[in-house]
Amino acid sequence: MKLDTHAIRYLTGEDWRVLTAVEMGSKNHEVVPTALIAQISGLRGVSGVNKCISSLAKVGLIGRVKNAKYDGYRLTYGGLDYLALNTFSKRKSVYSVGNQIGVGKESDIYVVADETGTQRVLKIHRLGRISFRTVKANRDYLRNRHSGSWMYMSRLAALKEYAFMKILHENSFPVPVPLDQARHCIVMTLIDAFPLRQISTLASPSTLYAKLMELILRFASQGLIHGDFNEFNILVHEDTREPVVIDFPQMVSVDHANAKEYFERDVKCIKDFFKKRFRYTADDDGPLWSDVKRVGKLDVLVEASGFSRKQARELEKYMKEVAPLADNNETEDTVGGREGAEAEDEGDDVDGDGEEEEEEEGEEEEVPEGAIEEAGKPMI
Ligand code: ADP
Ligand code: MG
Repeated sequence: MKLDTHAIRYLTGEDWRVLTAVEMGSKNHEVVPTALIAQISGLRGVSGVNKCISSLAKVGLIGRVKNAKYDGYRLTYGGLDYLALNTFSKRKSVYSVGNQIGVGKESDIYVVADETGTQRVLKIHRLGRISFRTVKANRDYLRNRHSGSWMYMSRLAALKEYAFMKILHENSFPVPVPLDQARHCIVMTLIDAFPLRQISTLASPSTLYAKLMELILRFASQGLIHGDFNEFNILVHEDTREPVVIDFPQMVSVDHANAKEYFERDVKCIKDFFKKRFRYTADDDGPLWSDVKRVGKLDVLVEASGFSRKQARELEKYMKEVAPLADNNETEDTVGGREGAEAEDEGDDVDGDGEEEEEEEGEEEEVPEGAIEEAGKPMI
């Protein structure tokens, strides 16, 4: 889904209030009835509320659902995007939104900038997107589970990624600096490097290979396994050939039941890629699971830092039951160079028709501060 920010500056304070009301109403209503929207928004006068509702629906931030069972509105991905952007704007994490640089299976990546013009990366988690598009069973899976909604799962993925990135950064791992997180989005530093996937030749493949294997071992010695350590998720600086690791929603502890398997898969991914791309094969078989010597407990620390074991289990369950169906499609390449990348319109319509979409769960976040007073200002 394309992030279309053009309407954001035209939203009035009342529009923001109503949008926030729909989000809050979604916490315990699959479809939020108009009367409830009016009540939560606290706006006086039905006609005012209706006017806001119709302008929000017109730009696709909420969608009408009208059938035998329901008559009301639900928040769309677009609406959730706007609420997150508004929060980032208020906290001064994001001032403007630029080009889309990546389209993953379950995320969209944009270059954004802060007030000083410094570029950053906005990662928008969009769990459920591919699955819903392709497999009806997945829709049913998500629809029937309160905590299984796309909104909730996307938020969990963002929370998890942010928590892991933070702890990795604090422990001097080569990862982007996590700057902010709200709802289903995170903001991090922009790494001026290309994915390993896009590198066709290396003067010394053995040097980078050794660094990557060392990294896998270093993660594990601190209690962590990346779980998706591949050529798409390793950015390599052009000049120094130093790697930076990204993409953490699937990280697990070395105490996880499948830890050995994930560790070996990470190692094999790099081995296979180096063989295929650079015709490089290392002399030894390692690193092996038995080489891992645990010296730290970042896996335990991360639980204390805002991503609980319960949340981890919920996300993992989703990833196991829904995501594997999409897993065979490799992550798509970046859309293009950093400059001039075209935002790709996938024609995705998770939020367009308003007729038969999955239920969604609201955020635990409060009314975003600033949603109201910030309105009208050209923040994006
Ligand atoms: P996904 O979970 O969809 O695979 P990733 O976090 O791997 O998302 O990001 C997808 C692509 O976006 C990456 O392969 C990379 O090209 C680009 N990207 C992501 N984060 C950054 C960043 N911090 N700096 C530069 N490029 C990034
Ligand atoms: Mg990735």
